[in-house]
Amino acid sequence: LSPVPSDIEISRGQTPKAVNVLAKEIGLLADEIEIYGRNKAKVRLSVLERLKNQADGKYVLVAGITPTPLGEGKSTVTIGLVQALTAHLNVNSFACLRQPSQGPTFGVKGGAAGGGYAQVIPMEEFNLHLTGDIHAITAANNLLAAAIDTRILHENTQTDKALYNRLVPLVNGVREFSEIQLARLKKLGINKTDPSTLTEEEMCQFARLNIDPSTITWQRVLDTNDRFLRKITIGQASTEKGYSRQAQFDIAVASEIMAVLALTDSLTDMKERLGRMVVASDKGGQPVTADGLGVTGALTVLMKDAIKPNLMQTLEGTPVFVHAGPFANIAHGNSSVLADKIALKLVGEEGFVVTEAGFGADIGMEKFFNIKCRASGLVPNVVVLVATVRALKMHGGGPSVTAGVPLKKEYTEENIQLVADGCCNLQKQIQITQLFGVPVVVALNVFKTDTRAEIDLVCELAKQAGAFDAVPCYHWSVGGRGSVDLARAVREAASQRSRFQFLYEVQLPIVKKIRTIAQAVYGAKDIELSPEAQSKIDRYTQQGFGNLPICMAKTHLSLSHQPDKKGVPRDFILPISDVRASIGAGFIYPLVGTMSTMPGLPTRPCFYDIDLDTETEQVKGLF
Ligand code: ADP
Repeated sequence: LSPVPSDIEISRGQTPKAVNVLAKEIGLLADEIEIYGRNKAKVRLSVLERLKNQADGKYVLVAGITPTPLGEGKSTVTIGLVQALTAHLNVNSFACLRQPSQGPTFGVKGGAAGGGYAQVIPMEEFNLHLTGDIHAITAANNLLAAAIDTRILHENTQTDKALYNRLVPLVNGVREFSEIQLARLKKLGINKTDPSTLTEEEMCQFARLNIDPSTITWQRVLDTNDRFLRKITIGQASTEKGYSRQAQFDIAVASEIMAVLALTDSLTDMKERLGRMVVASDKGGQPVTADGLGVTGALTVLMKDAIKPNLMQTLEGTPVFVHAGPFANIAHGNSSVLADKIALKLVGEEGFVVTEAGFGADIGMEKFFNIKCRASGLVPNVVVLVATVRALKMHGGGPSVTAGVPLKKEYTEENIQLVADGCCNLQKQIQITQLFGVPVVVALNVFKTDTRAEIDLVCELAKQAGAFDAVPCYHWSVGGRGSVDLARAVREAASQRSRFQFLYEVQLPIVKKIRTIAQAVYGAKDIELSPEAQSKIDRYTQQGFGNLPICMAKTHLSLSHQPDKKGVPRDFILPISDVRASIGAGFIYPLVGTMSTMPGLPTRPCFYDIDLDTETEQVKGLF
């Protein structure tokens, strides 16, 4: 329709097929799905065992140029591409997307189900609650947080003997010491490796974790943009007074448990990762883990259903997995390994799985390759790099673009010069993709204000910069048929041999890995470590965590650390203010400047528009 109706009107205009019908169409057996309502189902991991001899389909990553704050349409391109492949070219395909946080849905960004005629439906179910995975993460995260503070209280208020009597079953339950536990025993002067040989006194020492409260990195979480929880004081009641301390809430998707969910490949592996999560150091400088707190089993129980990917569909009835949505700065910002693995089996050898990396390619794609592909062992075949004329004009020197403020005339009228000047960012992101040896197809997501001359120029310059192909796409305004050219180009690029390679070896020292990313990907002259960052690097290296991949927490609005530096900034020194670790998820994350892990609400948040028609039970105002 023209003009294109609102996202929720389009979503509601299509009745999705019942999810059991969809599941059957894509080859799932009745006992491999658990249906949630009419439109969603969880898929059991047993399908991986059944299809273990089936060859994988082609693996496509959708990434983007450095975006404006409005987003350049990576989700819509992902959905438009699978609609084109399946519904118009008759090729099996699957989209694997992140589950959005409810914080931004009620805040400023709105939902993340795509938009226009390229959407996951029903979009209100996609954007709100889904099947409760984020709630499970919140519950597990906060159980661990409660375990930490309670343990400190009890250790400080009880005698060794009392503690021993209560905790000995926990210590006795340890069949084998982990490396972290062995290091801790050594530090305590106990040189034993067999748990059953510990004396009562040694067990008593072992049971006492001696957490140093000033080193606690584990925070409580909530899936609401509540800025007043950014800094809080806990333990103010008379029963805990004396053990109060400064703490904070993060948005739920920033929990390390979300990153664990996204990177795990089985229940056993998830349990091990949850157990390895480091929450603090003890007073001797050794890491304290979830395992040490005895909470691993309970966390795994809370997460046992969340591990199963959620099946939904696009507007054109093609299958979608919505599973995991880690923060894209302090975590890696990609949907789950498990959804990709299952989808790659289901589409068959000739089929395609299309997934999306958050932020620009310099961040989301770099992490997809160096963190997610390293964890999964999967080899990507093609990168689709999304560009818009509006973002290129911004990189070419156009006025700043702000959410909620109408675009200036530079963006609504033809301006060839701004586009030509801004293509430097596109060219740089193409070069970054080439570092990894994967062919890149540029998808120019066309807006109604773009002119023919602007579109042709972008495609021409992209090809000159080494893109395998560059095509305009119109899925937002007409659905899958508007992205058939993109689908053909992707199919063609996938027939090339992928020469995929990682950017760095994990065995390199932490500083070297950070410098490699800063120089090769962002184009920095060098890095500068704060004393805090250096001491953390020393500590993690000494604790045995030096060989993990790096997850840079940097602004997505520039290739550099300064969001207002557009285009391709040069000669900058990247400041690393701090370094933190997600040991269970399996990465070290350096902070480039300060990173907020709890968004706030704007003066006019999206929730003003959201309402329920109580007669029809229809949700209104979501976008
Ligand atoms: P990203 O995934 O890159 O953040 P989205 O796909 O979520 O971007 O798109 C951001 C917003 O822009 C959405 O509201 C979407 O509906 C809108 N949008 C995307 N492509 C177009 C287009 N071609 N024309 C108009 N609006 C679009």
